[in-house]
Amino acid sequence: LITIQGFLGFLEKDIVSGNLVRVTADCARITSAAAKMQQLLNELLELSRIGRLINPPEKTPFEEIVRDALDTVSGRMNAKQIQIEIADNLPTVTVDRQRIREVLENLLDNAGKYMEDQADPRIEIGCRQLDGETVFYILDNGIGIDPSYQNKIFGLFEKLNPSVEGTGVGLAIVKRIIEVHGGRIWVESQGTGSGSTFCFTLPTAIH
Ligand code: ADP
Repeated sequence: LITIQGFLGFLEKDIVSGNLVRVTADCARITSAAAKMQQLLNELLELSRIGRLINPPEKTPFEEIVRDALDTVSGRMNAKQIQIEIADNLPTVTVDRQRIREVLENLLDNAGKYMEDQADPRIEIGCRQLDGETVFYILDNGIGIDPSYQNKIFGLFEKLNPSVEGTGVGLAIVKRIIEVHGGRIWVESQGTGSGSTFCFTLPTAIH
């Protein structure tokens, strides 16, 4: 909004002075700032809806949701020739399937996006038992996350590298969806260059 207001001021001056080249450039900046604002508002709206609009939980094999999510993000995965491994011990979960698919799409897309120039890119999707609870994880060998930022990235509009595409809303949505399901989410990483493992818990059904 500040960008739009600023360039409206320039636009007014450039119209008065008759500088048409600058008028065109001002309009382009205003258009792109308005588009960015629209995207942010749409994502905020999406975030605000999550707490209310939840489909009834269904008993679903977790692997099926993983495969659905991989279908959506396969473009980036193939382009970067990322090797994907899915564990064969994934349980059945009782969840809003559509929402958990969104969670996985987001985490997988980030894993691919923050891979940077890794020569042997790899993503692993699995689960492990921790104190009687099933912890699902998505592990990548990408750029990693410094421990001091590991809580921050789940906040709204938080992004560590402003030049990479994205609004910093994705992980806030992911966290909200997991919490609506009664689960927790966190990230484990030794820091820059050592990859990241996003972990979360979910209600599991007896299978
Ligand atoms: P964005 O739209 O910026 O991707 P997200 O909320 O999805 O927003 O992620 C927030 C920030 O967390 C990102 O900007 C990035 O800095 C960091 N991040 C998320 N996933 C990963 C990952 N797998 N590896 C390294 N950094 C990550």
